[in-house]
Amino acid sequence: LTQEEKQILLNAIRDVQDFPKEGIVFKDITTLLNDKNAFSLLMNHLEKRYKEYNLDYVAGIDSRGFIFGAALADRLNIGFVPVRKKGKLPSTTVCEKYELEYGFDEVEIHLDAFHGKTDAKVLLIDDLLATGGTANASAKLIKNVKANLVEACFLLNLTFLNGKQRVEQHTPVYTILDV
Ligand code: AMP
Repeated sequence: LTQEEKQILLNAIRDVQDFPKEGIVFKDITTLLNDKNAFSLLMNHLEKRYKEYNLDYVAGIDSRGFIFGAALADRLNIGFVPVRKKGKLPSTTVCEKYELEYGFDEVEIHLDAFHGKTDAKVLLIDDLLATGGTANASAKLIKNVKANLVEACFLLNLTFLNGKQRVEQHTPVYTILDV
């Protein structure tokens, strides 16, 4: 993407101060989704990049990763797999706990999400990389079900939280906008 194209994407993302709590600047991507030019610019870019990868699946992280991930999977003509917060997936799951600022959270994936296909080539996607805790746990899940996680992709990277360095210890990371 050119600097100008990156700026179009950045301009389409809304900063909401003090959400969900004081001191947090929430990066709201709903304003990018409802801007057809920005949304298609992003999806065209992702399609162009990832059609070279010969992926088998896109796995999206709950919940904004579902939107970009499912749209991308359809463009690539491959399957989509949701990585969900605990308690939402109905069939047999594999679970991974991870630390938050205060306490813990858990993500899950269906045990048969990749059809038991060993070494299925998987791209992990989410809207935003912060501390990397969610992405790390999601990466572990994908590896635990014996799939091959080829890259983790994020629209936004909050560089001051150093999540990229954490995830890069085990998986290649691609971020579009570093802020
Ligand atoms: P982390 O596990 O710390 O990397 O947090 C990443 C997850 O939290 C992603 O699913 C993001 O969508 C969400 N998230 C964290 N911080 C923000 C933020 N400032 N704005 C929007 N979403 C955020």
